[in-house]
Amino acid sequence: MATRTVLLACFIHFFSLLWQSLASPIEDCARLSRSLPGLVFRNGTREFAESITSYFYVQARLLPACVVSPRDAEEVALAVDFLSKTGSPFAVRGGGHGSVTGAANVARGITIDMRSIADVYLDHGTATLKVGAGATWDMVYNRLDPHALSVLGGRAAHVGVGGYLTGGGISFFSPQRGFACDYIINVQVVLSNGTIVNANATHATDLFIALKGGSNNFGIVTRFDLRTFRQGDLWGGGIVYPNSTFEKLLGTFTSFKQLESFDPFAEIELSFVYLGSSSTSIATSSLYYAKPVVNATTFMPFMLVEPQLSNTLRISNTSDFAKETLALSTQNQSSVWATTTFTMTSTILSRILPIWQASALAMNRMTTITSSMTFQSIPPPPPRGMPNSLGFHTKSSPEKNLVLCLISIFFEDTKSQEDLELATKDFIRAVDQVAEDEGAEELFTYLNYAAGWQNPLHDYGDEVLNDLRKVAIEYDPAGILQKQMGGFKLS
Ligand SMILES: Cc1cc2nc3c(=O)[nH]c(=O)nc-3n(C[C@H](O)[C@H](O)[C@H](O)COP(=O)(O)OP(=O)(O)OC[C@H]3O[C@@H](n4cnc5c(N)ncnc54)[C@H](O)[C@@H]3O)c2cc1C
Repeated sequence: MATRTVLLACFIHFFSLLWQSLASPIEDCARLSRSLPGLVFRNGTREFAESITSYFYVQARLLPACVVSPRDAEEVALAVDFLSKTGSPFAVRGGGHGSVTGAANVARGITIDMRSIADVYLDHGTATLKVGAGATWDMVYNRLDPHALSVLGGRAAHVGVGGYLTGGGISFFSPQRGFACDYIINVQVVLSNGTIVNANATHATDLFIALKGGSNNFGIVTRFDLRTFRQGDLWGGGIVYPNSTFEKLLGTFTSFKQLESFDPFAEIELSFVYLGSSSTSIATSSLYYAKPVVNATTFMPFMLVEPQLSNTLRISNTSDFAKETLALSTQNQSSVWATTTFTMTSTILSRILPIWQASALAMNRMTTITSSMTFQSIPPPPPRGMPNSLGFHTKSSPEKNLVLCLISIFFEDTKSQEDLELATKDFIRAVDQVAEDEGAEELFTYLNYAAGWQNPLHDYGDEVLNDLRKVAIEYDPAGILQKQMGGFKLS
């Protein structure tokens, strides 16, 4: 009899847990749709399908119990306050360009899709741009280009403002001006208890600093006020080269990174791409000079590398260059991204190239892939008195001596996700080993490029991490955003 009672109790407990995990978010969706009529979408609706299929990468297209599309900060506050009380898992989605599964979407939970909060307002008096956190960078550039103004923003048109800025942000103008988050003047943010606060240099300053690199750990950003600067046309575009140029390009990039060569107007991404479908490799250099200077001297060595398969260098505006990057980006496939950083040495790049080539071939034996390895500079640190949370000392010069390495793998076969993540992890480990051998290791993992298994917030350093944890406790004392929301967490 006693055994039967215990079994029955276990049975009831199991089903109540199952019911909680399945039923609560569904119930939450029903209750939310009563408070936010017409803004909550279940699977089977056109809006739900549009939201899910608009994630840039397939691995981010999880199926939540519902998608909530608030139109302003008050509606975000209502949803977040409600969800913090029910305990259901939820996610916040900006432009949907992140590669980490579960960071901006949640299976069987509630996904808050911020894309309806996308007003872009230029205050001519203060030269400040107020941008809804659900906007994308093409909306921003379309607004600013006609006024010969710009901000620090994404280099691809559809990247979201929300994820990009809370992760740091590398822009066309970063070598001169820094991480994009350093040009934020004010952040309007909804805390986990539904309070709406403004964080800036004089109010809630600890929160303001934490949001510059600390991702979604402190609140849901609803608006960024950004400092604009004068920026007319620039000179830029891309050159595509065959694999016979690889060694030459590595040498050219190595010279470009010599300290005395530093040119604050020159921004470059050098990529090596393996196309598994045709077993071919190419290289691309994306070059942007922040002035309308044709054939900028700093870039001459890249322009002289021959042969070239194509060349789009031209004078144009930021919108046009961001559109070009989008057109060249692989989307609607599964992807794996991971990143590491090291100090430049004369030999490090030529030691990494064969490791990448071997890893691409090995991955292509698992399933057909495209593998891309990109080198670029880290932006300079923020000026004194305007800290961010990325961990670089104001006196350091990451823009001169550090190289950011991004590997991204694209593939159709969704079943290969885990294996390719493991293979990518091996690649990053091997690069870190080379960096260690060269005395070039650097503990910085760029959050916006990081894989789910990486720990970018920890890699900002103990001091920053402790500060971030204090801010999280102050503004989210119940730890709602740590427990109920995915992404890079502080634990
Ligand atoms: C084609 C392409 C080009 C890119 N180009 C660049 C580039 O030039 N420079 C660069 O630095 N990075 C670049 N990235 C990386 C990009 O910055 C990150 O993927 C970034 O997370 C995208 O932001 P999102 O809003 O689109 O992402 P999402 O996937 O929507 O969100 C990413 C993370 O941010 C959080 N988040 C989003 N909105 C908010 C909000 N309002 N409040 C709080 N948290 C929020 C989400 O919860 C999630 O954890 C690029 C990525 C792609 C795919």
